[in-house]
Amino acid sequence: MSVYPVWLVGAAYFCFGLIFGSFLNVCIYRLPRGLSVVRPRSACPECHRMISAQDNIPVISWLLLGGRCRHCKVPITPRYAVVEFTCAMLFLLCFLRSALPVDAIKGCVLCFLLLGLTFTDAETHLLPDAMTYPGLAAGILLSVFSLVPGPAAALWPIAFHGAPSPMQLEVQLFLRSLLNALMGAAVGAGVLYAIAEIYRAVRKTDGMGFGDLKLMAMVGAFLGPVLTLFVLCTSAIAGGFFGGAVLFSIYQKRLQRYRPRLGAKAGARSWQAAQTAMRALEIPFGVFLCTMSLVAWFYGAGLVRGYLRLLGY
Ligand SMILES: [Zn+2]
Repeated sequence: MSVYPVWLVGAAYFCFGLIFGSFLNVCIYRLPRGLSVVRPRSACPECHRMISAQDNIPVISWLLLGGRCRHCKVPITPRYAVVEFTCAMLFLLCFLRSALPVDAIKGCVLCFLLLGLTFTDAETHLLPDAMTYPGLAAGILLSVFSLVPGPAAALWPIAFHGAPSPMQLEVQLFLRSLLNALMGAAVGAGVLYAIAEIYRAVRKTDGMGFGDLKLMAMVGAFLGPVLTLFVLCTSAIAGGFFGGAVLFSIYQKRLQRYRPRLGAKAGARSWQAAQTAMRALEIPFGVFLCTMSLVAWFYGAGLVRGYLRLLGY
């Protein structure tokens, strides 16, 4: 596919991943705080001293400095190194799993956005518009260069008069891809909007942020409608399991504390306390949506095919 050896191109993707991961750390810290991601240069949040170029090498600097600021020795969160390394691995995976360079680059754009949104949501419970809106635009734009899977071909059969020219077929292919991207965005946003409306009607409060909705519009533009549904279903399951596990562990802890005092009444009290604690916890659902979107990008088609085979298709 190219004149350069595979390992060299792979290494280039990896290095670009490190650099973009480093920039992503800046975005994760600054975007939810409404700060510019361009200026000023990075500084230690504790002693405010500028971070020199030699201390700003992805992963390596963090390891060499033992995860501490060079000047004030305050610990620096391992998140910096984790994001950089994960971004590099994802970029490499995009290269290895793509047939065409344009597909690999599109994958890198999506991975960059999803990784940033995952950590921003985990740390601040926010999914900044500064990531989701450009992401949605990028997904729609890139759909005319790199094909988005979906049912557009089945829903939109176009009859040609006579044999279509290769050019006509090409145009048809990419218009369908664009349609798949638009349908994906509509499905992602639409399903979450419907859930939010139902929740509001039943519970009389807002249960879900519109950040999730914009996130799924973005994801839909990259993945198309079928894989977007896959993401919504699997993240609901994963989020449900996680929430259930957290609820149960809080319940267990409360039960141990209450049992000596309350005896038989401890169970009901613990259950009540666990539910209250859960509500205050506000599990960031965006983390699950982003993670399952990454799974869907790399393995979604295979997983959906495997699932359909289980049903006998
Ligand atoms: Zn410092």
